[in-house]
Amino acid sequence: MNTSSQALADDQGISEFHTISHGLYIGGQWRQSADGRGIRVIDPSTEAIIAAVPDATLEDAAAAVDAAAKAAHGWRTMSPRRRSEILRRCFELMTERSEALATLIALENGKALRDARGEIAYAAEFFRWNAEAAVRITGEFGTAPSGTNRIVVDYEPIGICVLITPWNFPAAMATRKIAPALAAGCTVILKPASETPLTAYALAALYQDAGVPPGVVNVLTTTSPGPVTAAMLADPRVRKLSFTGSTGVGRALLAEAAKHVVSCSMELGGNAPFIVFDDADLEAALDGAMVAKMRNAGEACTAANRLYVQSGIYEAFCDGLEKRMSSLMVGAGTDPDTECGPMITRKAVEKIDRLVTDAVARGARIMCGGSVLSGGGFFYPPTVLRDVPGDARMAHEEIFGPVAPISSFETEVEVIARANDTEYGLAAYIYTRDLARGMRVAARIESGMIALNRGLMSDPAAPFGGVKQSGLGREGGQHGISEFMEAKYIAVTI
Ligand code: NAP
Repeated sequence: MNTSSQALADDQGISEFHTISHGLYIGGQWRQSADGRGIRVIDPSTEAIIAAVPDATLEDAAAAVDAAAKAAHGWRTMSPRRRSEILRRCFELMTERSEALATLIALENGKALRDARGEIAYAAEFFRWNAEAAVRITGEFGTAPSGTNRIVVDYEPIGICVLITPWNFPAAMATRKIAPALAAGCTVILKPASETPLTAYALAALYQDAGVPPGVVNVLTTTSPGPVTAAMLADPRVRKLSFTGSTGVGRALLAEAAKHVVSCSMELGGNAPFIVFDDADLEAALDGAMVAKMRNAGEACTAANRLYVQSGIYEAFCDGLEKRMSSLMVGAGTDPDTECGPMITRKAVEKIDRLVTDAVARGARIMCGGSVLSGGGFFYPPTVLRDVPGDARMAHEEIFGPVAPISSFETEVEVIARANDTEYGLAAYIYTRDLARGMRVAARIESGMIALNRGLMSDPAAPFGGVKQSGLGREGGQHGISEFMEAKYIAVTI
């Protein structure tokens, strides 16, 4: 650990901060970038600079691909049992180090410590699930309809994978890719978001301690993500790009990958509707709305972005949500009492403010919050807006903040049409006591995931992903491993 990392650790009162970055992690070595430049990491609660990490160049990216290629044969031919044991060890170490890792996330991302603890538990589960799945990858065997041969299908690791992740879940978005890729037998290069690199490097140190061989996981940070990614995709040894982030960047990366016919998985933006019917359990719907809206202070791709409440329950729901949102404790992520931390950047706060101003100008009414908090840090208060019209920008764009826009509806047909009136299709929430209606509406909503009478759907054992402009492919469960494997068909004469 260098002295600034030590000072940070001391300041935070954490003795276990051996995991803070020593440099780029390439081929099992910690190293500075080829040109020695760095990227500053900011604590969004205070705006203080808390660390610096190396800014990788094209030369570093080439070194990472070389390292992943060098490690590839050994990893793909290692017995599945041994791979599984290493993945299991990653799970155990993450669980042992969970408090230090959660504090690090709260520090660099700003999310409330309680959310960060939840993220670590979720992130670690990807290692446990994939450790169990690594020894259960099967193939297929059958007879050709002609009867002349047998059809044997084997599932092979796809090859070297480039993984790109966003800042909003610095641990979970990485392990949701790394764990299945490793279980499938692939080696990887992770490029985490520039705002939250420390968690990615802390996890790299953990993989090393867990016995992941050098070069199997490589981590690099860069302020030139476009050129660095393009260079890696142009290397014919790279066969997979798995990206989580905004739809705009996802589109650009799909175009880049197309040049080299690289397989892509895309986890992109969302605009989740949260639908409450008159017959819903009001308290359960309010509890669910708080989770769906306020986990991570609204900085989640699955966050409830539009709340549609049927007219018979509308007033009670608006009042109940206002009460809950206005009583949330806003503060620094690392403060154990905080329920709503800061946004990631000032730019994010400004975007939220513009969306709220636009909605109010179009007729929405502020029930609580609604203006930027003064003082240091990137804070926006928990906000409830009612009577938000369909033409408000926030009905069509991701808010990515603690703002709950509510509007009323009359009929099932009407709310389905409004829910589907978006280019996105990641997540949706439905509250009703009528299971038949719940299933009927779920079937008609254009979305990869539905939470029925629940405020949360993420589960390492389930396929996470979207339709329309929300992405391609799935992460989690058996689907998650399949994204990192290629079917090989062998025709055998009999
Ligand atoms: P972003 O701006 O798209 O960035 C995501 C990642 O892509 C970062 O590592 C970023 O690096 C990198 N990147 C940016 N431009 C790139 C380029 N030209 N080539 C290669 N990489 C590039 O998204 P974000 O603001 O970090 O994250 C928020 C978005 O992610 C939201 O839209 C949210 O809905 C989405 N998200 C989706 C899911 C899902 O599972 N569907 C989960 C979480 C988040 P830098 O940080 O260095 O710019």
